[in-house]
Amino acid sequence: MPVEAFDGRGYVSREELLRTDLARILHEATGPGVTHRFSETVEALEDSGTGVLASFRSGTREEFDLVVGADGAHSRVRALRFGPEEDYRKPLGLAHAWFTLTERPGTPPLDGWFLTHNAPGRRGVEARPGHPGEQEVGLTFAAGTLPSRHDRAAQLALLDRTFADVGWRAAEFLAAARQADDFALDTFDQVHVPRWHTGRIVLLGDSAWCASPLSGLGTALALRGAAELTAALRAEGAPGDTTRVPAALTAFERAMRPRVRSAQQLPPGRVASMAPKTALGIRANALAMRALQSKAARPLVRRAFASSEHGRTDTPAEAPLPSPGT
Ligand SMILES: Cc1cc2nc3c(=O)[nH]c(=O)nc-3n(C[C@H](O)[C@H](O)[C@H](O)COP(=O)(O)OP(=O)(O)OC[C@H]3O[C@@H](n4cnc5c(N)ncnc54)[C@H](O)[C@@H]3O)c2cc1C
Repeated sequence: MPVEAFDGRGYVSREELLRTDLARILHEATGPGVTHRFSETVEALEDSGTGVLASFRSGTREEFDLVVGADGAHSRVRALRFGPEEDYRKPLGLAHAWFTLTERPGTPPLDGWFLTHNAPGRRGVEARPGHPGEQEVGLTFAAGTLPSRHDRAAQLALLDRTFADVGWRAAEFLAAARQADDFALDTFDQVHVPRWHTGRIVLLGDSAWCASPLSGLGTALALRGAAELTAALRAEGAPGDTTRVPAALTAFERAMRPRVRSAQQLPPGRVASMAPKTALGIRANALAMRALQSKAARPLVRRAFASSEHGRTDTPAEAPLPSPGT
């Protein structure tokens, strides 16, 4: 699929922001008022009613007015205060490995295309444009559980077994996975948590509501959630009166629930189309993709996008985004 498909707003969009670039932009935007502690994690959280006492792995303890668990789908904050991951994880039946491939002489160019190759047995390999000289690679397959995220050798062995006979560029990608310093493998899951806050601790982003990478909305939802949380805290006057924090968290949750519900509703066939089971399914999928890009289908696709969470552009009513350092 070329970048022009779906008016440049499809699988490969004209305005793509890679994860590392977004992380850098957000990091720079926080300004001098924010302290970043790298290689640190929280070991315990005790809610005292007037604050949250956090114990860190480094041994330090500190009290905070509010703790935001924006620590992803495998959130430790959630595990510490809301319960084990199994209680909230809804597996979609697929796993996905992703990493950056550095182009060398002889690497097939992508020329702005997102290329994907499927093999029977629900297996797919894909490459999409990254930074100049790089390609973003994905390997998708059917799986409910995986080796430990810390056991890279077992992860790579599983990929070798799964993709050995897939063809196209699979062998090249399996070799590149061994060289990549950003290699990751995870299941495609959703996270459904019935209540996102308890006392002065709140979950935000994938830790609260992961809609799965298949939604294409995870980053937008996480950023929207941060904006809504800021707006709710300001509207309740929580920065000046921290007893208002719990009320602000209730308002935040009320604002975000409808968006999250909508984003978690994946279109019918979305999971199956990512990695069809049979050769016939693969052919049907390819035909459907072509048909969707045809001139005749364009108005239909545009309408579908506009009426979904993808098309929403409204901003939180109560407050603008905070300026750096506030
Ligand atoms: C392969 C793939 C493709 C995707 N494509 C898209 C896409 O095209 N569009 C889109 O909108 N979304 C996409 N997503 C989803 C998107 O990446 C997430 O929804 C989004 O990053 C969620 O943001 P978050 O801040 O909630 O969590 P994360 O981005 O997961 O950030 C969590 C942070 O917490 C840190 N952390 C985790 N545990 C701890 C701990 N114990 N202690 C300290 N820190 C910790 C992590 O290091 C990380 O920095 C994709 C996801 C994947 C996996």
